Order: sequence, then structure tokens, then C-alpha cells
Amino acid sequence: MATALVPGIYDRRVADVELSANTEVAYEMTCRLTLEARVAEAIRVHGRDAYPYECCGALIGQPGLAVEACALPNSTEEGPRRRFLVRPSDYRTAEARASEQGLALLGFYHSHPDQLARPSQYDLDHAWPVFSYIILSVAGGSPADMTSWRLSDDRTRFDEQPLEVAAGAPSLNA
Ligand SMILES: [Zn+2]
Repeated sequence: MATALVPGIYDRRVADVELSANTEVAYEMTCRLTLEARVAEAIRVHGRDAYPYECCGALIGQPGLAVEACALPNSTEEGPRRRFLVRPSDYRTAEARASEQGLALLGFYHSHPDQLARPSQYDLDHAWPVFSYIILSVAGGSPADMTSWRLSDDRTRFDEQPLEVAAGAPSLNA
């Protein structure tokens, strides 16, 4: 699967490139996403620590199951990130990290400080097919709702993807 997604960088100029994934893999990814408890926890901690800025990271695992949240830098040449943007260098870092472990890049997460856990137009404009996009709302510095989204086939909207956290360690805001 990782191989099929090699062209995947966040560049609108190449956003019309056809990406493909094994049908079975793609189908499984469509259905639902489960986070290991420590992955959900890592995302919450990252969102809390980055507040009032957005945090951003990659989801690594096998289809349908994220086993690692790989934090991406939330500081750029322009200063701390105010909006979600995965740069080609981030993408390569995440993909390398995944393949090192024989795993796949499943998608990305980012936080919405003091905003709902729903994708913005900016998020939609920068999304790629197949990937899961997790959004964590961070309200007043406290991690709140977490949702997952996937781009619709016609790329005009996000569809919410069922998100589960596997039983495990208690979460920050339990
Ligand atoms: Zn966003």
C-alpha cells in the first residue's frame, strides 16, 4: 500500500494524480479506524502541549489499526503552525518511519484549538484520498472530541469515519 501512495505529497498542483490502493486494503480503511489506546493518548498530549497552536502528526499502523502517532513539527519557517499543513518533507518522514517498521502510513491527525472536531474548508482542500484524517478538538487547552474523516470519492466533502479507541490505558480527559 505504501508503494502505491508514493506520489502523495501535499501539493495542489499534483492533486489530480490518480492514486490507487489495493481494493481490499482501501475497503478496510473505509470502514473504521481503531486507535491503540497509547496512540489516542499521544494525540491528546500533543494537542494539549501545542495549544493554542495546532499540532499535526502521522498515523502509522496496518489497515484499520493505528499503532503509532508520529508527531510532525508544528513549527515552520513561518512560525508556529496555525493550520494543518503536511509538507512533502513531513510526508517522507512519516512514510519512512512506517516502512522501517513494515507498517503503512494510514493518515494524519491535527488539532483544532477552541474549534469543533470537524474539518475546515482548508482541511478539505488539502486532503488526499484513502487516508484517514483525525481531528482533535482542544477546548481551552484540554483535549476534547476526536473524530476521523475520509475524503469522499468525488473529493467534494469529508465523510466521517467510525473511530474507536482500543481498550487500554486511561485517557487524559477520562
Ligand atoms: Zn483542521
